[in-house]
Amino acid sequence: MNTNMDISIVVPLFNEEESLPELFSWIKRVMEAGGFTYEVIFVSDGSTDRSWDVIESLKRDNPDAVHGIKFRRNYGKSPALYQGFGAAQGDVVITMDADLQDSPDEIPELYRMITQDGYDLVSGYKMNRRKGDPLSKTIPTKLFNATARWVSGIHNLHDFNCGLKAYRRDVVKNIEVYGEMHRYIPYLAKNAGYTRIGEKRVHHQARKFGKSKFMGLNRFVNGYLDLLSLWFLDSFGLKPMHVFGFIGTLMFLFGFLAVMVVGGSKLYCLTKGIPRPLVTDSPYFYIALTTMILGTQLFVAGFLGELISRNAPERNNYQIEKTI
Ligand code: UDP
Ligand code: MG
Repeated sequence: MNTNMDISIVVPLFNEEESLPELFSWIKRVMEAGGFTYEVIFVSDGSTDRSWDVIESLKRDNPDAVHGIKFRRNYGKSPALYQGFGAAQGDVVITMDADLQDSPDEIPELYRMITQDGYDLVSGYKMNRRKGDPLSKTIPTKLFNATARWVSGIHNLHDFNCGLKAYRRDVVKNIEVYGEMHRYIPYLAKNAGYTRIGEKRVHHQARKFGKSKFMGLNRFVNGYLDLLSLWFLDSFGLKPMHVFGFIGTLMFLFGFLAVMVVGGSKLYCLTKGIPRPLVTDSPYFYIALTTMILGTQLFVAGFLGELISRNAPERNNYQIEKTI
């Protein structure tokens, strides 16, 4: 596809009315200074403030450069990115948060890294974080990134969760972001075969308006669960039977052995004429009971997994109220 557009900037936003005009004029300044052809795709993720009105007025003043997608309700940052990715036409796709924490001044260099250095994906690495963000956010973040590096095998990234990232268009068209997977887009890209993943240190500021939409313990618990399911999907997503079936069979066999022990000792006593203990006195009886039942259930879960993965309904299916 050759659209003759250099850059698409995808901005997911949820109630960011104050930031939008400033963000857009800053982006516009940088794009015009660099002589880029560009579009900004604002995805309003069910905003309940005036964000959409602001986007419409930006569209009126800049009909070619501005696009807007309006979700009927709040789905989350990943669905917003997914929808923006679908609409993006530029050779390079940039994602950035709407809250002015990421600086549009970084875009030209990110563009250069994709088009000239040959990267598939370049992730921002937020500098001077400590000044901008509270410690309660930076410390868990370090832990999170170490785990993400380890699980994903992408050892050169320090900041998976940075909203500012650049992609070759191909990449965003071939990965499926959903749930809260936006934190792991580099991992998704790697799993899809895009392995040239780089990093650029970027300026990062404290939020100017409003407050963070991702606060509290929840975001870390969910973050780790997502990482776990991605790892699982990567390893067994297309073959759930391999894991469930394997553990299930092992358990069942173990239970079967336990049955043999219980039955065997009963028989042994019978032939020797020694007093027979009740089978329910033996711990093996209970082991056999539980492992055989659990084993069978795991096996069935594996089958169900196989069935579902073959008939998975479209999971990225959102209510879009308006597109401009
Ligand atoms: N965001 C969104 N949907 C949501 C939550 C957040 O589109 O349900 C947007 C938000 O408006 C911002 C970006 O995602 O543009 C990052 O969110 P935020 O700045 O609150 O996260 P933080 O910087 O605190 O990690
Ligand atoms: Mg922010």
